[in-house]
Amino acid sequence: MSIYLNFDEMLNPIFFHLISDKRVCGDCLNDSGLKKFLACKIPPNTQECSYCQQTTKTVDVDELQQYILQFFPYADADQELPIAYLREDEGMWHDQWDTLEKFVDFAVCDELYEDFSNNLVDARYCQWQWSSLTPTQQRYYQWQEFREVVCYEDGEFRLYPKTEPEDRNHDELCPSEFYQALAAFLCRTDALSILPSGSEIHRVHWGHLEDDKLNFSRLTCPRPELVKRPNRFSPSGQSMFYGAKDFDTACLEIRATEGDAVTHAVFRTKRELCLVDFTAVKRPDGKFDYEWLGNYHISEFLDGFLADIRKEVKGEGDAAEYVPTQAICRYFKTQGATEILNIHLNNPVLSPELKLLTANKKIDGFCYRSSKGTERTCYVLFCGNEESTEMLELVPSPARTTFHPSPTLQESVEAMLNAVEK
Ligand SMILES: [Zn+2]
Repeated sequence: MSIYLNFDEMLNPIFFHLISDKRVCGDCLNDSGLKKFLACKIPPNTQECSYCQQTTKTVDVDELQQYILQFFPYADADQELPIAYLREDEGMWHDQWDTLEKFVDFAVCDELYEDFSNNLVDARYCQWQWSSLTPTQQRYYQWQEFREVVCYEDGEFRLYPKTEPEDRNHDELCPSEFYQALAAFLCRTDALSILPSGSEIHRVHWGHLEDDKLNFSRLTCPRPELVKRPNRFSPSGQSMFYGAKDFDTACLEIRATEGDAVTHAVFRTKRELCLVDFTAVKRPDGKFDYEWLGNYHISEFLDGFLADIRKEVKGEGDAAEYVPTQAICRYFKTQGATEILNIHLNNPVLSPELKLLTANKKIDGFCYRSSKGTERTCYVLFCGNEESTEMLELVPSPARTTFHPSPTLQESVEAMLNAVEK
């Protein structure tokens, strides 16, 4: 049993009194972060669990409580905070039962939850500066403002914030700093990935192209002057290579439907590509993951941001809707590598992705989920018609074919629809 005596805390316990005479095992913990804490941070032992009576690896409940307390959301104001809880001094967060439910939720078994509940400190929780925004809210509003004030003019993306930096509240972040924040957040979630040399990327064209058009230059991305319409990540007049991981997704991305005639080209990467991979953003393990202590807002923000980007591109037709994602793309294309390498300047051990970035000094593209309801992978590579020869080669014999959604595609669409219904 670990000895932990902090008299200050014993006299003024935070949130709950420590339960010193019980132990709990992994089977009685539901949250994967708590299970990970028990598995990785508690020395091996075999003792009886006070809740299920099995003899196995356990942790002192008071030690677990202290661990959980580190995640206590002192700065989390509830948007729906009932006015009765607000006081003129600092304000109140919630009453303690609500707080326990919101904070611990189903992370532990019912009996342990009961124990927590019986040991709650009989006081309400003052929240320091309850009126200020939480870190997640700060970032989310920064992104909202960025979206509203970003414009595309004369080939450049510009920001016209309506509030000057000196007129902003301390928690009101400037939209111009959004790019750097996003780069830092993506680094924190390990969103860089390497697309190995020899990987296949599918592209389809409408109709059956004639023999003399079945060549690299015609099948890769078009020359800039032929790009008449703005796209998800690139404005009109700018060429980028869009492709998908499979034929079906490539067809859906050009909005082909069953029976449409298409020309199918497969490209192969000629070297390793360093991509910002929005599909691989790492997330915390449960509510209490020590590797994310203090960084939960990053994951929460990125969830909202990635959902927004997907929504954005579903509004086909309105060119202005694409401007924020185009601006982000331009930033990563031109400054992303420098920014990310700066973040890792003092990092002694570079991941293979960062080594590749150090060698090439550029990000080659994004990997993202199709907006066509399949969750499948799409790519945008930061290269135009001629530049694409440096990254890609055409696999021989492009095919004139007809789009028939494969059974696996229909399964994945149905799975998505079922998931939405539930
Ligand atoms: Zn147990």
